[in-house]
Amino acid sequence: SPSRSSVIVVGAGFSGISAAKVLAENGIEDLVILEASDRIGGRVRKENFGGVSVELGAGWIAGVGGRESNPVWELATKSGLRTCFSDYSNACDNIYDQRGKIFPSGFAADSYKKAVDSAIQTLKNQEENHNGDFSKGTEPLSTPKTPIELAIDFILHDFEMAEVEPISTYVDFGEREFLVADERGYEHLLYKMAEDFLFTSEGKILDNRLKLNKVVRELQHSRNGVTVITEDGCVYEANYVILSVSIGVLQSDLIAFNPPLPKWKTEAIEKLDVMVYTKIFLKFPYKFWPCGPEKEFFIYAHERRGHYTFWQHMENAYPGSNILVVTLTNGESKRVEAQSDEETLKEAMGVLRDMFGPNIPNANDILVPRWWNNRFQRGSYSNYPIISNNKVVHNIKAPVGRIFFTGEHTSENFNGYVHGGYLAGIDTTKTLLEEISKEKERENKSQTLL
Ligand code: FAD
Repeated sequence: SPSRSSVIVVGAGFSGISAAKVLAENGIEDLVILEASDRIGGRVRKENFGGVSVELGAGWIAGVGGRESNPVWELATKSGLRTCFSDYSNACDNIYDQRGKIFPSGFAADSYKKAVDSAIQTLKNQEENHNGDFSKGTEPLSTPKTPIELAIDFILHDFEMAEVEPISTYVDFGEREFLVADERGYEHLLYKMAEDFLFTSEGKILDNRLKLNKVVRELQHSRNGVTVITEDGCVYEANYVILSVSIGVLQSDLIAFNPPLPKWKTEAIEKLDVMVYTKIFLKFPYKFWPCGPEKEFFIYAHERRGHYTFWQHMENAYPGSNILVVTLTNGESKRVEAQSDEETLKEAMGVLRDMFGPNIPNANDILVPRWWNNRFQRGSYSNYPIISNNKVVHNIKAPVGRIFFTGEHTSENFNGYVHGGYLAGIDTTKTLLEEISKEKERENKSQTLL
């Protein structure tokens, strides 16, 4: 029969690695980490593109410069990760219409203010309705119609919302955001963490407690322990499991639970929204866009909401790289994931020619990440419905017997962020360690009774 470990951690992203590290630091060394893909990092992932290292998943350390220090920023500082401040304040001065004209900044600022006011009012109405007053409708006060209104609505709702409701990341850790621009990638922070408790050599993890290419398909659990079965037919036994897979994976049927998860758990899992966020990278032979630091972010206003709306040039991060990034979300992300990269390139070039004229060069290369169709991710990050009660977060986090849940989606204040994953890993492990010591106490008691 397979040997039994104290704890199996499923998934080696930020939360799984931070969970395993805390276990090791607390003397639980007989742990096993099962990771479905061929690498650690999960949604933190770099790829070489156009001569530089680009981040397909998380790109920013968000929440810096506030009253508390963001732990991921601390990790980055400690390991000398190269980052670049992102100044979004000028983005609304760089909104292009479909004939390449830039909207006057006063006009854009007014539209923006209107959108924020309307979002605040809508939220208030929803809260009132939630308290039993159904007299007012929940429809937004003003529906965005023109291309610039749609562009601003997209920026506000699919990116920001910080102006509408307080977001813990910015309130606690500060409002600054830093783009990771390091050849070693954001994932370098994970290797640094792993080094503290796993055997590594020349930057490679050689510890056989980390098992890559192990796709967990079934968790059999009872009061005595958990049996984990992987796609390749391996069987692992443990006293406890820490499950760090994304909310998208939990909503899919990749992992079977035996016995099935209780209703309170599956209902909570179904309640969360999965956001899809896609950064498309385009490499050009030369620059044709304005390059100043205040031009880093620019916006395309189109009658289709979210259609290649949000752009960034990479010259601040990597001077001379000649790379542009455009971000799509949700419906547009799914649409683009389903078509060929050539098709996407054609669309993106059409939009760029609207903004910068017909004579710009074609991109030499394109990179389109597919987070939605990746069966180990099924989306980019979790989103709690704006009005959701504390019970949902509680039930998302709560263990089921010997299965403990972690991952960014279990972070009450920081879900959707890298630091959310990191802090969730620590949090879940603390809860598990308490449970382990209670179990020991119970065993000791029954022993003395015998
Ligand atoms: P994951 O990183 O998803 O780790 C879970 C691991 O489980 C994965 O490695 C997966 O392969 C593995 N797994 C899945 N199924 C199985 C299975 N059946 N068996 C075994 N292993 C399995 N955050 C920020 O702070 N700043 C940003 O700028 C930012 N931008 C983002 C942009 C994109 C495109 C995306 C996708 C995410 C972004 N995020 C950002 C969010 C951030 O990346 C995540 O919140 C964080 O990395 C999640 O870590 P995690 O450990 O919870 O999950």
